[in-house]
This record gives sequence, structure tokens and C-alpha cells, in this order.
Amino acid sequence: MSNYTIISPVTEQPIQDIHLADIDETDVAILKAQHAFESWKKVTPGDRAKLLRTFAAIVESHNEELAQLEVLNSGHTIGNARWEAGNVRDLLNYYSAAPERLFGRQIPVPNGIDITFKEPLGVVGIIVPWNFPMPIAAWGFAPALAAGNTVVLKPAEYTPLTAIRLAELALEAGIPEGVFTVIPGKGSVVGDRFVTNPLVRKIVFTGSTGVGKQIMRGAAENVKRVTLELGGKSANIIFDDADIEKAAAGAPGGVFDNAGQDCCARSRILVQASVYDSFMEKFEVAVKKFVVDDPSKESSEMGPLISKLQFDRVTDFVPAGSPIAFQGSKPTGPGYWFAPTVLTPKDSSDRAYREEIFGPVVSVLRFTDEADAIRLANESEYGLSGSIWSRDIGRAVRVSRGVEAGNLSVNSNSSVRYWTPFGGYKQSGLGRELGPDALDAFTETKNVFFDTQN
Ligand code: NAD
Repeated sequence: MSNYTIISPVTEQPIQDIHLADIDETDVAILKAQHAFESWKKVTPGDRAKLLRTFAAIVESHNEELAQLEVLNSGHTIGNARWEAGNVRDLLNYYSAAPERLFGRQIPVPNGIDITFKEPLGVVGIIVPWNFPMPIAAWGFAPALAAGNTVVLKPAEYTPLTAIRLAELALEAGIPEGVFTVIPGKGSVVGDRFVTNPLVRKIVFTGSTGVGKQIMRGAAENVKRVTLELGGKSANIIFDDADIEKAAAGAPGGVFDNAGQDCCARSRILVQASVYDSFMEKFEVAVKKFVVDDPSKESSEMGPLISKLQFDRVTDFVPAGSPIAFQGSKPTGPGYWFAPTVLTPKDSSDRAYREEIFGPVVSVLRFTDEADAIRLANESEYGLSGSIWSRDIGRAVRVSRGVEAGNLSVNSNSSVRYWTPFGGYKQSGLGRELGPDALDAFTETKNVFFDTQN
């Protein structure tokens, strides 16, 4: 039996002790989820849809409570945390439409009729990181439940509180016991057991690329399905014909939101040489205005890093003598605060430019032309997200097609919309979440042929 003491990233004081499940407790929960699956898959589509809508309504009526819990546990700004709880509601509403629309196909064949069915997989294991505890959990559990699977979910050790509360709200909504179970625990114990227990038929993992590779290797043993959402080092590409004012004003939010602990953070800014000085001047003003403050204040735009460990990791990327162009502000006193930091390395070999930092640190480089911008953007093992700023439609299309990344935005830094697919190229992941096709990742296609000649 072990416990984990959650520490506030704002005050560095203990918040709550959480029991961490061991392997036996994990197996018991998985077995319960397997039993629950037998009846959950038979709930009629209309009833399953209604239960998900009720769950959404209950999440909505607890929006403020969930948001405050995230501010407390994770140090997210209150504005972000309200959006995150709202995102859970939106996902449940969006996928509540799915059970009644989970169509198979009728395919013309000789001598009979051929029909396909979309059938649930069984128990789905969801492993969540600490950076967006609510949305990332719901990106997995909302479509998984809608498709008729049951879910066991492991939150990150640092940030289990909102997931635990969401599981209670699911029960309140009438979702039967065992259909959605949250199991706080260590990655190496509970997470690993999801991978090795054969009753878990699929793993949805969001986290670091290293652990993702380990999970993929482990899943091979049982040919277990996996969806992986991993790291990123996304480029924000600013061309000379862009609205430089707007690009510069948006750039801090594009990388420093959630203190840079965002897999889509635009942590490499590539600026066309001819507008570099003009961009940097405006960017400096925007960075200095970025409000880093107590996340419970409505005006706060950035809170602290999640932990002392993360603070040390980020600090390690900015040793003495780093090419710091300018920095934003940070509060004094307790808390894992790191000031927004802008680096101007001499070239793309710089470690802070190449590696995912997962903190409020961005590197800026110049490029010469379109080809050079695409070359630099693609010079990364990752390919998750990115932005292209240009008023030239042809160029925006060409560069969007040229950049190897799963989620790009033109003249915007927003990556996530629950209506559209989300996922990575290269080592940023495997598979897609969100959008109309997410159900495919939580179903098997069964093909049945009916012979009409006999
Ligand atoms: P992490 O990989 O250390 O942990 C993620 C989750 O995996 C946690 O719940 C952890 O307990 C669990 N875990 C750890 N070891 C495990 C193991 N051996 N078996 C099974 N589960 C295990 O990552 P993190 O530090 O929590 O999150 C930061 C990383 O996540 C960053 O690299 C970031 O880019 C990535 N991330 C990616 C996305 C995305 O959508 N692509 C979203 C958020 C975070």
C-alpha cells in the first residue's frame, strides 16, 4: 500500500494524500470493467446516448468546481481550467451523438448480402499525462464509452484530482459501476499493468515519446491496439507578408500557454529574415506584457510549472551564457515559477532549439525563403503541430502541405477543436483522436456475409 502526497505548484504545500493502486488492485478493477462490458455493450444506442448527455450536463453544472480543482492541483489559470472542464462537456455531448450513428455498411457482393458492423473492443486503458488532465482524459473516454467500450483510466501521479471527480460524476449521471473507473497509481505499476493485462484490449497513451515507445513494444505481446499522442517541437513560421503585429501579439500565447507544458507549444519560432527585427521588437513587447501570476486570478495568463522536477528540467535548458534575447516576468516567493524566456540560438544545432523542453522557453531563428522555412520546420523528429503566418493564400497552402505535422493552423495558433482530428506525424504519435473518425479507433469492423442462394 502506498500513498502519494500531491504538492501545490503554487504554494509548494501539500494538498492531499492519494492512495496509489498496486498490481492486484489494478487487476481487480480491470476484471470489473470486463464484467461491466458485457452489459454496457448491450445498452441500446439511444440509452447510451442519453447517459452520455446526462454525464455532460452534470459536468457542465460542476464546471466551476472542476476548474477550481484544476487550479489547485495543477496550477492552471482559472480561465484555462474553465475551458478544460467545458471541453469535457463538449466531448461528451459531441460523442453522445455517436451511438445512434455508428453505421456499418452494406457492400454489394455476388450471391448474397454483405454487412459490416462496428463493434466495441472491450476494456480500454487510458493513460493520461499531467499537463492537461481533464481534456486528455475525455479525448479518450468520451468516444471509447460512446462506442460501447468500458474504460479504466490512470491519471498522472501529480494530477489525479479532476479525473477522480469525473468518475464520481459519471456514477451520478447513471453510468453503471465498472464502466468508467479511474485508478490513480504509478506509471510503472498501473500503467504498465494496462499494457500487460490481456483483458485490456486497447491502450490510449498520451505522454513522453520514450514511454510511448515502451508501451508500443509491450502492446505487441498481445497485439494490443494503441493510440499514441507523444511529444512535439512545433514551428511557428512567420513570413514577410504576414500581419506581423498579429503574429507577434499571438506568439506568447502560442508557446507560453500552460507555462509551455503543452505538446502543441510553438516552441520554435521561424521568422523570415526581412521582417525579423520588426517581429522581435513587437514580440518583446508582447512577452513583457504576458501576465505570469497566481493562476486563481482572472487576469493571470500563465501559472507555475507543475513540479520541482519539471522546474529543474526546464532550468537545465537555459544554463548561464544561454543566448537569452529577453524574458517576461514571474512572481517572487514560493511556487515553481519560470519566467517566459526567448532564446536566439546561432543555428538549429542548439539543444534548446531541438529538444522538447515542456516549459516557457522558445527559440527564434531566421529563414530566407519558403523552401528554407519548410526545411527548418521539418528538421525535427517530431511533427505534431504548428502555425503559418502569411497573407498569401497560395503560400499558406504550399507550406501547410510541406510541413510534416498533424495539426497546422494558418494565421492562428489554435490546435485543438473537438470536431477535427488531432494527432502526430513521425515520433509525435500514432493514430488520431477527436473529430468524426475517433470512433474507428475504438471499434473493430466485423464483416458478415449472408448467402441468399440456400
Ligand atoms: P510521461 O510519459 O512520463 O507520463 C505520461 C503518463 O504515462 C503518466 O500517467 C505516467 O504515470 C504514465 N507512465 C509512465 N511510465 C509508464 C510506463 N512504464 N508504463 C505505462 N505508463 C507509464 O509524460 P509526462 O511527463 O506525464 O508528460 C509530458 C510528456 O507528454 C511530454 O513529452 C509531452 O509532449 C507529452 N504530451 C503529449 C501530448 C499529445 O497529445 N501529443 C499531450 C500531452 C503531453
